[in-house]
Amino acid sequence: MGAGIGGLTAALALIRQGIGVDVYEQAPELKELGAGVQISSNGTRVLHALGLGEEAERLGVVVAGKEIRLWSTGQTWKLFDLGAVSIERYGYPYLTVYRPDLLGVLANAVRREKAAAIHLGANCLGFSQDSEGVRLQLEDGTEARGDALIGADGVHSRIRQALFGPDQPSFSGIVAWRGVIPTERLPERMARSVGTNWIGPGGHVVHYPLRAGSLMNFVGALERADWQVESWSTRGTTEEMAADFAGWNEDVQTMIRNIETPYKWALMVRPPMERWTLGRASLLGDACHSMLPLLAQGANMAIEDGFVLARCLKEYRDDVPAALMRYENARRDRTRRAVEGSAANIERFHNPKLSDPAEARKYVDREWAEERVAERYEWLFRYDVTKVSI
Ligand SMILES: Cc1cc2nc3c(=O)[nH]c(=O)nc-3n(C[C@H](O)[C@H](O)[C@H](O)COP(=O)(O)OP(=O)(O)OC[C@H]3O[C@@H](n4cnc5c(N)ncnc54)[C@H](O)[C@@H]3O)c2cc1C
Repeated sequence: MGAGIGGLTAALALIRQGIGVDVYEQAPELKELGAGVQISSNGTRVLHALGLGEEAERLGVVVAGKEIRLWSTGQTWKLFDLGAVSIERYGYPYLTVYRPDLLGVLANAVRREKAAAIHLGANCLGFSQDSEGVRLQLEDGTEARGDALIGADGVHSRIRQALFGPDQPSFSGIVAWRGVIPTERLPERMARSVGTNWIGPGGHVVHYPLRAGSLMNFVGALERADWQVESWSTRGTTEEMAADFAGWNEDVQTMIRNIETPYKWALMVRPPMERWTLGRASLLGDACHSMLPLLAQGANMAIEDGFVLARCLKEYRDDVPAALMRYENARRDRTRRAVEGSAANIERFHNPKLSDPAEARKYVDREWAEERVAERYEWLFRYDVTKVSI
């Protein structure tokens, strides 16, 4: 249940393995937050395996590379080449895409296979299971039955709560601002096909192009203790956002001034779960391994989960609980490493050494040296869902 990026990828992968699926989504219509998402080669590999790679690439931008910029002077360093280099090294591109576009591609593909697979306005309240199957209780009083239940219901997962009780996230001390800018409002030199990561003491900013370069996605994260609401749809004001980034480079100010609607979101931390499967029920994506957005891997992990889950349910189809345990075992260490790697980037991106430009130069040269970057990203980008042992 849950028709987010993770749930729909899983649904499509399962259908492609010949397994019947129904997706229960609380929202009355399929609507993603109007923001961008970066899909690295480990994720685009899955989209290609599901036959959606080219369609997604047409709608998004295959960025040529990534760069680091210093919050104050704007000094720029190359982080890595992507574009053709990503395809050459990992077999697949690095894609930046408007979230509603990606969701649309996934939903259309699911509906082409099974027109009525996605049930909208279906708020799930809880479930029960026995040796024969699972029963999902919906808000309208009806019940859905099946052989297995996968909670792909996001960071506030009701299925996770039903399985393991309420969780206790802690506030990271960071508030993230996000918004989208029509590129025509920006100076031409800023409309490039690269992902940029500004780093500064106590904050960072990430921006990249979307929709063939017509939009620019902006995420700005800042250490600040007075806002702790974990919601993707809370609006803030341009003035408040600009005040948070006072003193940052003029390019950052220009972007902030041109954001149509700024949203703010408190970043919460949940420790990696030791387990997330119980009998015929399991979890997927943010429901079981939400992470800080500092490695740009939350959606990629949810996409990988979906594909591996489908492989396990196909391979061990006669024993659903065993298949779900195989899935969890295949995914536990990798997703834990991504959760930890995301958190480790706070200190790297927000380091106090970045206040002084001369210190900052030495710090960036060391922290973003080629071999250190490879250590942080190669294991992510090379992962092959189609071959990983299950
Ligand atoms: C600022 C920011 C930037 C990010 N950037 C990136 C990035 O560049 N790359 C990347 O890989 N990841 C990124 N992420 C992470 C990524 O957005 C998430 O990891 C991803 O969306 C998780 O997908 P999901 O399908 O697990 O959950 P969700 O997208 O949250 O989907 C859950 C679905 O379940 C539904 N649902 C919830 N409860 C119920 C219920 N009771 N009944 C029925 N349906 C229900 C919801 O309506 C929703 O549709 C970012 C996150 C943030 C905050």
